[in-house]
Amino acid sequence: MPYANHSRTFADNKYVYPVLSRRSKGISVGINLNPDRVCNFDCIYCQVDRTSYIPPREVDIKLIGSELRETLDLVHSGRLFSIPPFDKTPPELRHLSDIAFSGDGEPTTFLDFYDVVKEVIRVRQDVRAFSGEPRLILLTNTSGLSRPWVQDAIDLLYKHNGEVWIKLDAGSDEYFKVVSRTHIAFRDILHNIIVTAKRHPVTIQSCFNKIDNIIPPHDEITAYCNRLKEIRENGGMIRLVQIYTIARPPAEDCVTPLTKDELTFIAEKVKEITHLPTEVFL
Ligand code: SF4
Repeated sequence: MPYANHSRTFADNKYVYPVLSRRSKGISVGINLNPDRVCNFDCIYCQVDRTSYIPPREVDIKLIGSELRETLDLVHSGRLFSIPPFDKTPPELRHLSDIAFSGDGEPTTFLDFYDVVKEVIRVRQDVRAFSGEPRLILLTNTSGLSRPWVQDAIDLLYKHNGEVWIKLDAGSDEYFKVVSRTHIAFRDILHNIIVTAKRHPVTIQSCFNKIDNIIPPHDEITAYCNRLKEIRENGGMIRLVQIYTIARPPAEDCVTPLTKDELTFIAEKVKEITHLPTEVFL
């Protein structure tokens, strides 16, 4: 089963899609709150295809609930694993690892984010009898984390076996601008991480790659480790730092994956400078 297949379309669903996930080590059921494929970042390694016209965003929370219910049923009944490409999933990965707010843009830009979190929790409780209680994960680029209703939604997530996984792909303003290509200032991103990590322990997800065949400069990796250290010194709680590289075709051809040794070097630096636990995946 290729990890390279992360299609956000499944059957006739508009919002809910299963994927075999490297980070989750099993099936992750994604909820795409950005079917219009609009994002407030423009990461050079982004895998979302934005070359065709997509109508403006409409999010139907009730429809998300019914698609989620059907998709969870497919996973738990095992019927998912008779449908290509999931029929190639190795036996040890044929389980539901989590339900993730992720997709083709930044989930927290959806103004009714609190309500959709409530609906997902409700559906998960309804189907608990046969599905256990999979984790709920918010994958975020941090840009919406300072909004009060997003913080309320995050509080709700953490009360219901939820977690926040936060993107941090740089240590300096310059490198952040090269990689993330957003109008949002790096200092605001760091501020939002601290605000959230002071309330709840978060996972940091960092995607490092070669750009024009050049690995991330050592100075940049040191700066990145220092940013992690500052988050902790400001009272932020980090439970894990995940270091990874691209597995699917990126937005820009100049971006290519790091090797396992190159990723491990970064992880060792994080451990040396911050003493935080790390995980590397290709
Ligand atoms: S934040 Fe995510 S969806 Fe947005 S451009 Fe970056 S990788 Fe793509």
